[in-house]
Amino acid sequence: MHLARFPRRRYTPNPTPLEPLPALSAALGGPELWVKRDDLLGLAAGGNKTRKLEFLVADALAQGADTLITVGAVQSNHCRLTLAAAVKEGLKCQLVLEQRVPGSYREDASGNNFLYQLLGVERVQVVDAGTDLAAAMQGLADELAAQGRKAYVIPGGGSTPLGALGYVACAEEIMDQSFELGVAFDHMVASSGSGGTHAGLLAGLHGVNANLPLTGVSVRAARAPQEEKIHGLAQAAANLLGVRSPVPRELVEVVDDYVGPGYSLPTASMVEAVQLFARHEGILLDPVYTGKTAAGLIGMVRAGRFAPGERVLFLHTGGSPALYAYEDVILGRTPA
Ligand SMILES: *Cc1c(COP(=O)(O)O)cnc(C)c1O
Repeated sequence: MHLARFPRRRYTPNPTPLEPLPALSAALGGPELWVKRDDLLGLAAGGNKTRKLEFLVADALAQGADTLITVGAVQSNHCRLTLAAAVKEGLKCQLVLEQRVPGSYREDASGNNFLYQLLGVERVQVVDAGTDLAAAMQGLADELAAQGRKAYVIPGGGSTPLGALGYVACAEEIMDQSFELGVAFDHMVASSGSGGTHAGLLAGLHGVNANLPLTGVSVRAARAPQEEKIHGLAQAAANLLGVRSPVPRELVEVVDDYVGPGYSLPTASMVEAVQLFARHEGILLDPVYTGKTAAGLIGMVRAGRFAPGERVLFLHTGGSPALYAYEDVILGRTPA
């Protein structure tokens, strides 16, 4: 793979840390757990969207855009980071926020919503679930075009083949660090949402023949459609890179047992995971993605999915600002 052929902006100066989790591993009594700290990526408060935006914003700049338009849920990390990238590049940013849970948008909410205001979002349009989001974004882009401006539209989560290259790069980074540290991994666990992260990792691990099984923990969709989506996107990213052999379907594994009542809705196992990471390792997860993904990791450890001597790498994709919109449930003041 030859990623240097793709224009890229740099938002993180160094590789993110790859760290052992000794106290958590001891508490769970299972395999040796490690974490890839992509919560420490650059741009405001970091997170996985930063890697995708390095490629997407480079493309926007190459096309002469003056405004980024994107879409996300009401507490979207992706919207926060797209806005932060726009600020850094001297671009404007407009957001379409989808109320995936009816009535969930509150203008005065904390967490990422507060950060949209602080970072100086130009415009927020709130729409109900089921709205044609691509059309809503195109509507904003058309309004700007009528004013002589030029928008670049980024689909939800930045999960296009180009955006997924950010996680192809992460797969290469992990393999380099693993080699430098002399630590080989037996399994990897990551969130599977809009899919660019899971699909990019898969394309990258396949492209370098890593032979490192990857489990995606779904935060929204059911297993079968999510696996189809991930396979399609991983193949599209591999095609963009010119990887010759097809991405095998059997490399795609999604578990959907940790979604609970729905996207962004708290579960008891998410609350436990957030508390375990905080109290054993001093690491902040988030309620919507990494809390549920870590609940999946912990559930698989307890179910004996990994042998005791194995090394399992958890990808921390960020998101901690959303904690501040869920304080009561995370501290157990209201039940999950
Ligand atoms: C968006 C997001 C994810 C999911 O990544 P996708 O590429 O959308 O699947 C995971 N964790 C956090 C914190 C996120 O913001």
